[in-house]
Amino acid sequence: MAPDAFQIEHRYQELPPSFYTRVQPTPLTDARMVCFNHELAEQMGIHTGNPEDWTGIGAGTELLEGMDPVAMKYTGHQFGMYNPDLGDGRGLLLWETRGPDGQRWDWHLKGAGMTPYSRFGDGRAVLRSTIREYLCSEAMAGLGVPTTRALFMVSARDPVQRESIETAATLMRVAQSHLRFGHFEYAAYHEGEEAVRSLLDHTIALHFPHLLQQPEEARYRLWLTEVVTRTARLIARWQALGFCHGVMNSDNMSIIGDTFDYGPYAFLDEFDAGHICNHSDQGGRYAYNRQPQIGFVNCQYLARALAPVMDEDDLRRALRQYETSYNDSFLANLRDKLGLAQPEENDIEVIMDTFNLLQSHQVDHTRFFRGLSTLPSRGEAPVRDLFVDRKAADQWLARYQTRLERETRPDAELEAAMCAVNPKYILRNYLAQLVIQEAQNGDYEPMQQLLDVLRRPYDEQPENEAYAALPPDWGKHLNISCSS
Ligand code: AMP
Ligand code: MG
Ligand code: MG
Repeated sequence: MAPDAFQIEHRYQELPPSFYTRVQPTPLTDARMVCFNHELAEQMGIHTGNPEDWTGIGAGTELLEGMDPVAMKYTGHQFGMYNPDLGDGRGLLLWETRGPDGQRWDWHLKGAGMTPYSRFGDGRAVLRSTIREYLCSEAMAGLGVPTTRALFMVSARDPVQRESIETAATLMRVAQSHLRFGHFEYAAYHEGEEAVRSLLDHTIALHFPHLLQQPEEARYRLWLTEVVTRTARLIARWQALGFCHGVMNSDNMSIIGDTFDYGPYAFLDEFDAGHICNHSDQGGRYAYNRQPQIGFVNCQYLARALAPVMDEDDLRRALRQYETSYNDSFLANLRDKLGLAQPEENDIEVIMDTFNLLQSHQVDHTRFFRGLSTLPSRGEAPVRDLFVDRKAADQWLARYQTRLERETRPDAELEAAMCAVNPKYILRNYLAQLVIQEAQNGDYEPMQQLLDVLRRPYDEQPENEAYAALPPDWGKHLNISCSS
């Protein structure tokens, strides 16, 4: 076995000490390595042949030489209310590494025990929610959506009280950055101008180094513009895929534009623009169709936190980019989904017509677009069969075919392009629920199989057809709350 090929860094600890507290993990008992991401490990330069070598790290009973765990301090707006008491309440940044490809990785052990920022929490994560985060990070990576990743997870016997008694688990979440919008809010509202400046320079040096070439007077504005753009683009991807995040608080917004913190998320089954996936979100603040607007509100929170170091005008200019970026990306994504490579003026009307159809007939979002993608080879049946009202389907299909006739790509090319953006396999909540039940009985094979399917979501996988099925009745309206 080759020695590990990564370098160790602790750049976060170069920030002023008020940004963190050193905390040791609280050990779990009888921990077991239950899932290990070999492909990702390889990419990160980890050459462990035996995943069990990492069990102690996951369990918080062991630290490798060079690990220096800290809980990060941040604040943020939760459901529109500012909360000054946030921070890593149950996760620890163990170290940062740089892989053979130069990529940086934060190692964050989620569920590692209490920290000074735990508030009323117990510092733990339950098995159920750890599996959900693992699955969705990898599903998003498979879909090509920016996301934090899951390196491995361990399961333990320690009881954890939620609505009922569950058991503890931890996730080694890795990402190029764990900096959140909320880090900036903390700096601005509790530490002052110097802290904002330190954090900003740190962020640019680490994650936006290309901006160091820009003149100093333009740098912050260009940086904010880029953050705003990445955020808008990310949310345009979510909307195109029917992904609902569920808890878009500003402490769950990644500064580099990753999908961050998987809680009560959902992929839409039958289309419902107002779908609220978080059972605890009574007002529907984070409903599917509100995500684009909430993304902007979060960018406003970020911009407000930058007021000590940036001109009002520059902030406004950067923020204006959100709407343009979102609209452009959303339009481009939907054109791709519909196979429209030669833009026309009224494509937006075709898109609205499509969403109206999906909404009125409660059609499965994923099956619909995948069905459209295979029109050339399979005909209209995969789409028509999703409708009770076949006449409505036929009328829409006729309008769509008229528009498609003006496209010049050969059928095979069109089909390949559409299949490459309209996934066949998504992480439906019922699929997650099934593997959680098996895992709770000690069998992780179904989780592994689901992960294998989700790694290639755009491929036809004839042997895995069942994973593309519509949810059974029991799996249609699962209540997923914030409890995790
Ligand atoms: P979330 O709603 O998952 O974004 O979590 C919001 C905040 O609550 C974060 O600062 C978490 O670290 C903290 N938190 C969530 N669950 C727990 C827990 N079981 N123990 C301690 N802190 C927690
Ligand atoms: Mg969070
Ligand atoms: Mg969370």
